[in-house]
Formats: sequence, structure tokens, C-alpha cells
Amino acid sequence: MKQENKFKIVISSGKGGVGKSMLTSGLAMLFAKKKKVIALDCDVDAPNLAIWLGEPENWQKIIPISTSSKPTIDYKKCDGCGLCAQKCQFGAIKMAKKRPVINPFLCEGCGLCEMICPKKAIKLKPVQNGEIRIKKTRYGFWLVSGHLIPGETGSGKIVDKIKEEADKFNSDLMIIDSAPGTGCPVIAAIKDANFVLLVTEPTPSGVTDLKKVLKIVQYFKIKYGIVINKWDINRDLSRTIQKWSNRTFLGKISYNKEIFRSVSYLQPIMETNLITKKEIEKIFQKLNKIIW
Ligand code: SF4
Ligand code: SF4
Repeated sequence: MKQENKFKIVISSGKGGVGKSMLTSGLAMLFAKKKKVIALDCDVDAPNLAIWLGEPENWQKIIPISTSSKPTIDYKKCDGCGLCAQKCQFGAIKMAKKRPVINPFLCEGCGLCEMICPKKAIKLKPVQNGEIRIKKTRYGFWLVSGHLIPGETGSGKIVDKIKEEADKFNSDLMIIDSAPGTGCPVIAAIKDANFVLLVTEPTPSGVTDLKKVLKIVQYFKIKYGIVINKWDINRDLSRTIQKWSNRTFLGKISYNKEIFRSVSYLQPIMETNLITKKEIEKIFQKLNKIIW
């Protein structure tokens, strides 16, 4: 059943590797005790939410996705003028023995070559650029995970497709693991969110990237909260971030090498006795107070 008004929480970050998926997995498991949750992995270049949930295999459904097109050349019509190779801004067409040759790994599917070819020899055709994998987790909620085929483009549109698929499920809360950064997949994940949880770490690049992604969140006028992961690797900077975050500060998670051991054994953090579990529970409690 399609439900337009389900609440959407997006977990995002300015840079990769700051603990976004770990936090998403923990929050999804905690929210699932009280709400009808559906978890979405929209980090389509490197989806790993299933790993953090401890079950990366046995997908119940795999849907091929085509959100991008690539050009093909009809050499019977082509006269070898070379205009397409000259004008392609991505260097994806090279002339070889007076014939244009397309490098699909460089092609962004912009369609310029099709438009400008004087002989109408180029046509854009849809290509499969990703897939959506769906499964019910052992925690009782569904996971919808998007995967971009390496070398393909169109990640933002795949995120839209993931949300469309997730919308078909009967749930009242979407927990969305976004890609890091400020690109199309991040905008696609954030644009209709009800709340964005931004994860950062106390490093100069962590702070700079946090401010960049925050601009997007503020552009869409979405309520947000900030979490510092590995706060104890630089306590001074963590204090500065906390002060700067002011009322949007939601909590902090300590650096702990044991996290990586547990994920390598496919043991979700919420099923360990690590301090991280307690820290995520605290963030969950604060988040609960803010959003409901
Ligand atoms: S622009 Fe058209 S005709 Fe000219 S080389 Fe490219 S494909 Fe051939
Ligand atoms: S679709 Fe765009 S990027 Fe791809 S070959 Fe044509 S002009 Fe270049």
C-alpha cells in the first residue's frame, strides 16, 4: 500500500567513513521496537547497511534498474566528420581510423552527441545501471538497498527509485542511509526528509564537509541534529563542534576498534556489549524527544 505521509529520517554526512551506516543500523533496530520501520540504503555507490545489520546475503527480491542512457552509433549513417568527438565535454568519444568510438566508462549520458550529429547517426539507448535489493531482516523490518553498477552514472535517479519501491510497503517510518557528500544522491535522499541526522568526526575536513552538507539541509528547510563520531580522537575540536551545534547537538560516539571486529563477524552493534550500543541508545532517546 502506498503511503505518502510516512515520516522520513535521513542519516547523512559530509564525508565518508564517519559511521553513518553504523548509526543507521542501530537506529533502525531501536525504532523497529515501536514503529513500522523500513530501512533504505541510498548510498548506492557503496551500500553497506545490510552488512551493519549482519545479513548481507539472501535477498528476497532483486529489481534491475535503468535510470541512464548511453549512445550507440549507426556507422552506416556516420560520415566520420568528428563533431561528436570534438564536442563531448567528457572526452568519451575518440576518433579511430575516422570512426567515432565511445568509451562507456567516460560517457555521462548527457545526450549532446545525439543532438548535434548532422547525420542523425547517434541514438541514446537505456542501459541497466543498477539494481534494487529487498529483504525482510530478522529484526522484522524491511530493507531496500540500491546498488549502482560500477562505472555507471545516474545515482540520484536510483535513489528516487529506491524511495518509490520503499513507498509500496506498509510502514510509518523510513530510516534512510544517504550517500556522503553533497552530490545528486545526497540531494535525492534529503529533499523530502522530515529530519536529517548529520554525522561528523572531530577533524578539520570533517567540520568543513559538515558545513557543506548542512547548507543543503538548510536550503530545504529541514530540521536536523548533529552527532559526533569518534569524539575522543580530538576532544577539543569535539567540544567546539558541540558548542557550535548548540541545540541541534544529539550526542557523541567514542572511537572503538572493537566496532570493526564485530562488523567483520556480521554482528550488529546493538547485539554487542560495546559502549557504542549505549551511546546509540542515548542518541535514539534524544532523537525520539525531538521528533515526535
Ligand atoms: S557527429 Fe555523427 S556523423 Fe559525425 S562522426 Fe559523430 S556520429 Fe559520425
Ligand atoms: S552522451 Fe554526452 S557524455 Fe556521452 S558520449 Fe555523448 S556527448 Fe559524450
